[in-house]
Amino acid sequence: MQRCSAGNELSRQKIPLIKPYITQEVKDKVCEVLESGYLTEGPVTKEFEEAFRTYVECRHAIAVTSCTTGLEMALRVMNIGPGDEVIIPDYTYPATADVVAIVGADTVIVDVSKDTMLIDYDALEQAITPRTKAVIPVSIFGNPLDYGRLNAIKKKHGIAIIEDAACSIGAEYKGGKVGSFADISVFSHHPRKFITTGEGGMITTNNPEWGAWMDSYKHFGMGSVTDREGVVFSRIGTNYKLSNILAAVGLVQMRQIDELLNKRTELAEKYKELLAALGNAQIPQTTAGGRHSYQSFCIFVEDRDRIMKKMRDNGVEVQIGTYALHMHPAFAESSHIIHHGSFEGSCYAFDHCLTLPLYHELTEDDQKYVIDMLQSFL
Ligand SMILES: *Cc1c(COP(=O)(O)O)cnc(C)c1O
Repeated sequence: MQRCSAGNELSRQKIPLIKPYITQEVKDKVCEVLESGYLTEGPVTKEFEEAFRTYVECRHAIAVTSCTTGLEMALRVMNIGPGDEVIIPDYTYPATADVVAIVGADTVIVDVSKDTMLIDYDALEQAITPRTKAVIPVSIFGNPLDYGRLNAIKKKHGIAIIEDAACSIGAEYKGGKVGSFADISVFSHHPRKFITTGEGGMITTNNPEWGAWMDSYKHFGMGSVTDREGVVFSRIGTNYKLSNILAAVGLVQMRQIDELLNKRTELAEKYKELLAALGNAQIPQTTAGGRHSYQSFCIFVEDRDRIMKKMRDNGVEVQIGTYALHMHPAFAESSHIIHHGSFEGSCYAFDHCLTLPLYHELTEDDQKYVIDMLQSFL
C-alpha cells in the first residue's frame, strides 16, 4: 500500500460534521453483553430505560428501535387513525410526517418561525379543526419548545402534544428537562444525535396507562412482560424491542451525559464568540427560558449552497439543516396531506441554514479553521 506523504497546511485532516463519542467504557460494556450471551432485549435495556427516565425526570421511559417507531406507537396508543388530523411543522425530517400517514391519519403541515425554526404557534392554532387530535412539534436541533404556549393551546382546544424530541436529550425549559413536558416525547439515538446506540429511540411519558400499553405493544402485545410464565397476549402487537447490545452503548453514554452536554455548550459558546466578529452570519434564537442542547450548531447565511460546497472542498464537512417537507412529492397536497398557510419561515430555513461541525472531541483550533473557512467564502 502506498502512503501519501505528510503534507503541509493543505493536507489538513478533514473535520467531520459529527463524531460519536465512543470510550473504552462503552466498548467494555458491549463486550460484557456479548460474552453474557443475552443479546436480545433484557436487563441492560431496562437499566438504560431507568437511566433515561431518572435523567429526564418522568414516570416512564420505553426503549424502541428508532424515534420513528416510537412516534408511530405514540399515535397508536392515543388511538389516532383514519379521519383524524395531526398537525406537524414543515421544517423537519420526513419521519415526523411519515408516522401520521402510517397510522392512516391526515397530515396538516404548518410553517415554522424564521427566528427559531420551531413550529409557528399561531399557524398551529389556526390550523386546528374539530378533527385535530394531536400536534407533533419538533424541538429541532436541540432547541426546546415553548411548552407554556403549547400547553395553553392544548387546554383550549383539547389536543394532545406528541413531541418529536429526536434531537433534544439534555435540552431544558425553565429548569425542567425536555421529555417531561409533552404528553409523550420521543428521542432518537441515531449517530447524528447526541446520545447514540447506532439506531434506536426512547419514548417518555407520565401517563401510566400509555406507558403500559406501549410496553406491551412493542413486545408483541404481551399482557405482562415481567411474568413470562403466565404470559397472555392481550392485543395485536409488534416487535420494536431494543437489544441489550445497543442498550449497552446508550447506558454508558447516559452516564457521560453531563460531561458531553457541558462540552457541547462550551464549544457552541466558542462558535458564537468567533461568529460575532464576522457579522454576516446569523444565529437562530433559542426559545426564551430554554437551554439548547446543541445537537446541531446552525447558522443562517446568504448563498448557503455555494458556501457549503466551498467549505466541503476545503475539508470542512458542513451540512444543510433539514428539509422543507412541502417541497417533496411524498408530502405534496392530496386528500390526506393538507398544506396550511404559507411556508415562508420553512423556505427561509431550508435555503439559509448551515450546520457546522460539532462533537465532543472538536478542538478550538478546528473551530477557528471552520470559521476562517466560512469567513473567506462569505
Ligand atoms: C433524526 C430525526 C428523526 C428520525 O429518528 P430515527 O431514530 O432515525 O427514526 C425524526 N425526527 C427528527 C426531527 C430527527 O432529527
